[in-house]
Amino acid sequence: MSSIPDFMAHGLCTQFDPELMFPHPNDVQGVSDAKSICAGCDVRTECLDYALSPSTRIGAGVAGGLTEEERNGLKPGRAHRYRVGRYPAPSQRHAPAA
Ligand code: SF4
Repeated sequence: MSSIPDFMAHGLCTQFDPELMFPHPNDVQGVSDAKSICAGCDVRTECLDYALSPSTRIGAGVAGGLTEEERNGLKPGRAHRYRVGRYPAPSQRHAPAA
């Protein structure tokens, strides 16, 4: 059984209703609200590395500032390279060029 890592006690999301971090993927406002919480979090980098690690993978919700879909394909141990806001939402990624 895995234990909760120490950094999570310092996560800004601990000050909010946990449900806020698990918006429906199509809930644009909900995803934005969750990302806003992560953006102000002091342990975002640790959280994203944790979420990307195969042994501790967080498969749902917003973690480390990214949605589950945005985390797909990112490599663990490189969270310091993945900045909040650097990766557009999936709908923006696939939008036709203006
Ligand atoms: S980065 Fe986001 S999900 Fe991770 S601990 Fe901080 S607020 Fe919570």
